[in-house]
Amino acid sequence: RIRSSGGNGIGLYDEAMGKAAAHYLSLSTDLKYAVQNNELRLHYQPKVEAATGRLVGMEALVRWMHPKRGMISPAEFIPIAEDTGLIVEIGRWVLHEACRQNAAWQRDGLRALRVAVNLSARQFRSTNLLSEIDAAIAQTGLPVNALELEITESMVMDDPDTLIELLNAIRQRGIYLALDDFGTGHSSLSYLKRFPIDCIKIDRAFIKDLPDNLDDVAIVKTIVAMAKALDMSTVAEGVETAEQLALLNTIDCDQIQGFFFSRPLAADDFLAFYRKHN
Ligand code: C2E
Ligand code: MG
Ligand code: MG
Ligand code: MG
Repeated sequence: RIRSSGGNGIGLYDEAMGKAAAHYLSLSTDLKYAVQNNELRLHYQPKVEAATGRLVGMEALVRWMHPKRGMISPAEFIPIAEDTGLIVEIGRWVLHEACRQNAAWQRDGLRALRVAVNLSARQFRSTNLLSEIDAAIAQTGLPVNALELEITESMVMDDPDTLIELLNAIRQRGIYLALDDFGTGHSSLSYLKRFPIDCIKIDRAFIKDLPDNLDDVAIVKTIVAMAKALDMSTVAEGVETAEQLALLNTIDCDQIQGFFFSRPLAADDFLAFYRKHN
């Protein structure tokens, strides 16, 4: 019924598919020039210590300032970048820019904060990631302990042994490692045990219905306890309310990230947030 409702032989369904495909194609064409045309920006979302509210770091989140379409979210263009391989160039830019900005802030006298950068699975597979990390550190002068890299469970299943080797090399440099979106992927606990991870970021899916949903309370409590047993710290993602924060404090979650404290901020706004917060 939906297919024939167009009345001209081309159903709405096909039309919608066609539009989506055209949109995708148009974005992927434009994305090729986004880096060289200087259209990417990093926003920074504060991370705070749950017990004290002290600012401890920030996550760098990329945005695309499209000349015609305005700001495009990474949820929309990162998958395209991954499909087309452009993530390698974009990821390199993100890593360098996050290190450059944080190093500049430290030189301007900001207390040392750790900046977290998201990595895609494709960056592991198709680049010499380790030498790119070394280059970003060397070129910007950022102290290694002021950088954190976020990986996801989806990378884990590809080739765990190679990944573990790389993660060990990253960590030996003094760079921190976090496992992002924890609980939404499918990595087994036996892998988790072998991973040289400093921190687990509990996905917003388990946070959003706290404190009322008792299943989620049990799950989050268990993740925090497990992380502690494995000597890892925990960050709750997507904290939006004081009630969520209170619950997370009672179960000893270490850090909080979410709209309750701040949305991701453009660099200037992050600086203003820092000054107000200190
Ligand atoms: P993520 O790494 O899990 O980042 C957290 C996302 O949750 C961000 O969305 C952030 O704005 C959003 N968020 C934070 N607090 C709250 C909250 O309290 N409520 C709600 N509803 N949302 C909250 P954003 O910036 O749209 O990024 C989406 C995803 O895109 C990221 O998820 C990450 O997977 C990816 N991404 C962003 N920047 C990069 C990048 O530079 N490289 C790569 N590979 N991926 C990136
Ligand atoms: Mg992340
Ligand atoms: Mg996340
Ligand atoms: Mg997430």
